[in-house]
Amino acid sequence: MDLQRALAFADAFWEEEILPALSEYIRIPVLSRVFDPEWETNGHTDRALALVRDWLEENRPQGAKVTVGKIPGRTPVLLVEIPGDTDETALMYGHLDKQPEMSGWRSGLSAWSPVREGHRLYGRGGADDGYAVFASVAAIRALEEQKISHARVMVLIEFSEESGSPDLPAYMEDFSRLIGTPGLVIALDSGVSNYEQLWSTTSLRGVVGCALTVEVLREGVHSGDGSGTVPSSFRITRQLLSRLEDETTGVVRPEGLRVAIPEARIEEAKAVAAALGDEVHSVFPWVSGMRSVSDDPVELLLNRTWRPELEVTGQEGIPRLGNAGNVLRPFTTLKLSLRIPPTLPSSRAEEIVRAVLTGEPPYGARVSCQFDAPAGGWDAPPLAPWLREALDESSETLFGKKAMHLGDGGSIPFIGTLGRKFPEAQFFITGVLGPESNAHGPNEFLEIGYAKTLTAAVSSVLDAHRVNGGRLRG
Ligand SMILES: [Zn+2]
Repeated sequence: MDLQRALAFADAFWEEEILPALSEYIRIPVLSRVFDPEWETNGHTDRALALVRDWLEENRPQGAKVTVGKIPGRTPVLLVEIPGDTDETALMYGHLDKQPEMSGWRSGLSAWSPVREGHRLYGRGGADDGYAVFASVAAIRALEEQKISHARVMVLIEFSEESGSPDLPAYMEDFSRLIGTPGLVIALDSGVSNYEQLWSTTSLRGVVGCALTVEVLREGVHSGDGSGTVPSSFRITRQLLSRLEDETTGVVRPEGLRVAIPEARIEEAKAVAAALGDEVHSVFPWVSGMRSVSDDPVELLLNRTWRPELEVTGQEGIPRLGNAGNVLRPFTTLKLSLRIPPTLPSSRAEEIVRAVLTGEPPYGARVSCQFDAPAGGWDAPPLAPWLREALDESSETLFGKKAMHLGDGGSIPFIGTLGRKFPEAQFFITGVLGPESNAHGPNEFLEIGYAKTLTAAVSSVLDAHRVNGGRLRG
């Protein structure tokens, strides 16, 4: 296939067909179900689904069949089946649910209003992960435009990813015959370390979320009265957190939450550190004077991709500043988000965290952990030579640099599920979440130029898959 021609097609298709629809999608606050108790009744999911279905009516590839799965009480899935000319299936994955808006958007921007500034399209969900369905279709259309065939493609788009994909397994079951046994999985929901070459994700961390509550009183009391007699729930919470994490170094303490990092992954991290240099840490929006956890970029990359790391992401029981009286509060709840190594089963991690936090509570405090649905990690199978070549070739043609391979610190729970279910499959996990794109935070943007180029690269991977991955039919 002619990659430059595919890029020219992607450029025009993005401008004319994708960006208008993606901008409309950004306007819809289709929060993932854990963030939106009213998701079933407020219509946002239906609006997002209708927007994409209407767009597919206009833009779907030849012979494409659109199926919507709707199990009561579950968020829907959207399946687009595009017939091919081999007995192989390529599965393309993305999601349409979003993270909450988050504060801190700079003036002129907000989560639900799309704003294009040069190569950037700002707004929640454009890059994570609304673009995926459009880009997947565009990659196939770019092949059609050159009259190049492909394997059978199944595009699978879900609405519960940001909640840990709790609704997906039921649909995988229901549609297992339709989905088939993919030989190639392409997921456009991952990160890239720069916008200057193609990146493939070789591992994903899992995540364990829990609300840790420490109760000490039935109601709050005057702190002049209670303090010194009643232990502070905050102090007990601090103690418990120190069981989990060394507060000086950030190292997660329980042995069982760490794994031996495979040698090949350490080598990848070294190659990426050599390519990126200071960019490994300089991409973050540091306040002045602030330093990173380590001076060694390889350690930073391994911390981010293979080691457990803790953050406190929310609280209850602590009033806002305007309401903060001198009171000994009855309880403290902290929401913990623990990223776990790719190969550590999430159920095991949950067991360890529960035992560490709730065992022998200081002063007999009432301590409880309410866990979210755990999300497992994933470590890629060895890359097939044809896929490595296809990635390198398209990266060199489109960017003038070889493709890079690195673990991602985030989680896509579904990939772990797929990896276990289809052990023979090859994976091209990639995305547009590069420097400053800030998915999940304020000022999220989609780097439009990179998205167009990535679309062309995906076309070439589908082309290589048809040639190398499956038997020709007939
Ligand atoms: Zn995502």
